[in-house]
Amino acid sequence: MTLSLSSVVTKYGAVRALNGVDLSVPDGTLTAVLGANGAGKTTLLRTISGLVAPSSGSITFDGTEITGLPADRIARMGLGHVPEHGGVIRELTVRENLRLGGLWCRNPAFDEVLDLFPPLTDKLGRQASTLSGGERQMLAIGRALMGKPRVLLLDEPSLGLAPLVTAAIMRVLRDLRDRTGLTVLLVEQNARSALSVAERAYVLALGAVALDGSAESISVEALHEAYLGVN
Ligand code: ATP
Repeated sequence: MTLSLSSVVTKYGAVRALNGVDLSVPDGTLTAVLGANGAGKTTLLRTISGLVAPSSGSITFDGTEITGLPADRIARMGLGHVPEHGGVIRELTVRENLRLGGLWCRNPAFDEVLDLFPPLTDKLGRQASTLSGGERQMLAIGRALMGKPRVLLLDEPSLGLAPLVTAAIMRVLRDLRDRTGLTVLLVEQNARSALSVAERAYVLALGAVALDGSAESISVEALHEAYLGVN
């Protein structure tokens, strides 16, 4: 098991954003995390990558306890994080953004990233602010891949993108898993897209796992129930 969470609680003041989450992501799989607004999906990823500290519970990565470690340590262990909206630096060029992602890596995956996202190749000298939404998301994923992570956490990569662009991004994620064995934890509001590429899915409601199982086993009815918190 690459990534494993046990009884994780994360609070913002009095708000329990995660309220005892148990979740595991097997090596080389694509696992989706679905749920309504405010269910705790972003907090889950931020807690795993060390951007917020859980108040209790345990997180292990390849058997090593990473709970409470600083985010840069966790990133260097091989955990990449693509935040909501991508987090690219708009004032920097595409090349500069990519370089930032590989700063601490001796042999960054520059050529591999350009192979994966051909539209970025002829825009390397352009400011990131001039990219389309889809290209910016490709840059955000590419930047995270520069450091050759073994696990990639993605926070709503489909946000604001046209269905065709979303489908292309999902295909890239699936190909990466199939070709390189990358382990992916994909947070999505777009349940249909995420379930089309994931093997397993977890549905969060009010900071806890309301439903989990193989992607095929998650029905639309069960999703609705879990989103409404009535199951
Ligand atoms: P969305 O899909 O809208 O991004 P989400 O499932 O990612 O939602 P989170 O952003 O993790 O949910 O938020 C979970 C809960 O924690 C919500 O009630 C939210 O209001 C609260 N919360 C999130 N960030 C903070 C913060 N920095 N300070 C206080 N409360 C927060």
